[in-house]
Amino acid sequence: MHRREFLRNLGAAALLLHGTTASAAADELDETSTDPQGDGGVRDQLPQAGSPDRHHATDIFLEAAQWPVLQRLQQRLGRVQQVVGHGNFALLGVDAMRRYARNFSQIGELAPDELALLEQLFYADASGYGFYGEKPLHSLTAAIDGRALLRQPGSSQYLFKGEAQRLYLQIQQALGAELVLTSGVRGVVKQMHLFLTKAAAFDGNLSLASRSLAPPGYSFHGVGDFDVGKRGWGARNFSAEFADTEEFRRLQELGFVTMRYPQDNRLGVRYEPWHIKVRGV
Ligand SMILES: [Zn+2]
Repeated sequence: MHRREFLRNLGAAALLLHGTTASAAADELDETSTDPQGDGGVRDQLPQAGSPDRHHATDIFLEAAQWPVLQRLQQRLGRVQQVVGHGNFALLGVDAMRRYARNFSQIGELAPDELALLEQLFYADASGYGFYGEKPLHSLTAAIDGRALLRQPGSSQYLFKGEAQRLYLQIQQALGAELVLTSGVRGVVKQMHLFLTKAAAFDGNLSLASRSLAPPGYSFHGVGDFDVGKRGWGARNFSAEFADTEEFRRLQELGFVTMRYPQDNRLGVRYEPWHIKVRGV
C-alpha cells in the first residue's frame, strides 16, 4: 500500500495525526526502514519492531499543536496514580478516574481538549500507526469488575479469576519462587498513561509508542494476559535480556505457555518474551 493511500485510510484519526517526517525527529530516521505493509496488502516482516525506540520514516506523529495537551494529560494521569496508588490505578476506569480528578484539587479536572485527546486515542484505528493487533476493549468507559479479579499474594498486582489465574499458578508451580508476576490486570486508564508517557518522551511519535505498548483498548492486559519475570530483576524483566534467563528457557519447555508477541510477530510489536498470552480472552 502506498503511503498516500495509507494516510487516507486513517480516516477520522487523520484529523489528529500527521505522517510527516519533517519533525525534529527526522535527524534520527532509520534509513533502512521500509514500507511496513509490503505490496499487495501482504505484510512482510516489520523491521521497525526490531528497533522499537528509533524514529522510522513512516512513523505517525501527533500534531505538534497537540503536544502540550499530551503532556498535560500524561501529567494529570500521573497525579491520579499518586493519589490512588499503583495497585488501584491499574484497575481504574475512565469514569472513576474523572471523579478523582474532579474531587482532588492536586489532580484537577480534565480540560475539554484532554478529554478529546483521550477519546481520539482510544477510538483511533491503531493500524494507522503500524500496530496490527486485535482490539479486545471497545468502550472507553467500560470498567473492570473487581469481583472478577484476585489480588496476588505479596504484590499489588491482580489477575482475572479463571484461566489467567490457573495459568499463572501452573507456571509458578513449575518454575518456583524465582518466577514473579511483574504486571497483571491493566485497565484503559493505566494503559493510556503508559502509552502517553512513551509518546511524550519521543516527540509525540505514536507509531514508536505502539511498538512497545499496545495502544489503549488494544492491550490484552485488560482482559487476561499478564507479564512474568525473574525475582529481583526490575526493569530488565521488560528487556530482551529476559529471553536469556533460565526462567524463560524453562517457560518455553513447559509446552502450555504461549507468548502474545513472539519474535518476528507481524503485529508491529517488539519481541516480548515476558508477556504471556491467556487463551480464550
Ligand atoms: Zn505485557
